[in-house]
Amino acid sequence: MELVVQRGDITTVEVDAIVNAANSTLLGGGGVDGAIHRAGGPEILEATKALRASELPDGLPTGDAVATTAGRLPARWVIHTVGPVYAKTKDRRHLLVSCYRRCLEVADELGANSVAFPTISAGVYGWPHDDAVAVAVDTVRSMALAVAVEKVVFVPFSETMETLYNDQLAKEA
Ligand code: ADP
Repeated sequence: MELVVQRGDITTVEVDAIVNAANSTLLGGGGVDGAIHRAGGPEILEATKALRASELPDGLPTGDAVATTAGRLPARWVIHTVGPVYAKTKDRRHLLVSCYRRCLEVADELGANSVAFPTISAGVYGWPHDDAVAVAVDTVRSMALAVAVEKVVFVPFSETMETLYNDQLAKEA
């Protein structure tokens, strides 16, 4: 599995699947969630509403992931996941690890070869940035042999986050 860092807006990244740091309602929010729905158009919300009406009446549990169309984004799918809120969640590290794992499992089931991740829980959900990046990189690395996904793109939004990814990737696995 190839791991790369590409700073910028995740909605523009050309991969098979982009991950959305959603909330459990799946009905939209701020941050990267808002950007994905704006750029992808109403098809994504129609798809998440349909999921809520069928298999997810109570929403998506923290640490789990589910895929929808990507609407007009360059990607084929959006994989929605719900990160833990840093200040509130018991067993939060395990749940953040689970987000990355479940996203890669869902990508694998879809047959996605490339997946882009934002830094889950590192925005409104308040996770310290260096640790959020460490969990992201270490968990994806630990899945390299378990899934057929060939390429993972980490998409930091700022230069300081980009440095954290490059530092973490430079450390031995
Ligand atoms: P959470 O609620 O899981 O904390 P946020 O969307 O608030 O999710 O933030 C997650 C991370 O995504 C933050 O580091 C934020 O800066 C970043 N981010 C926000 N918009 C984008 C975007 N368009 N592309 C990539 N990353 C983004």
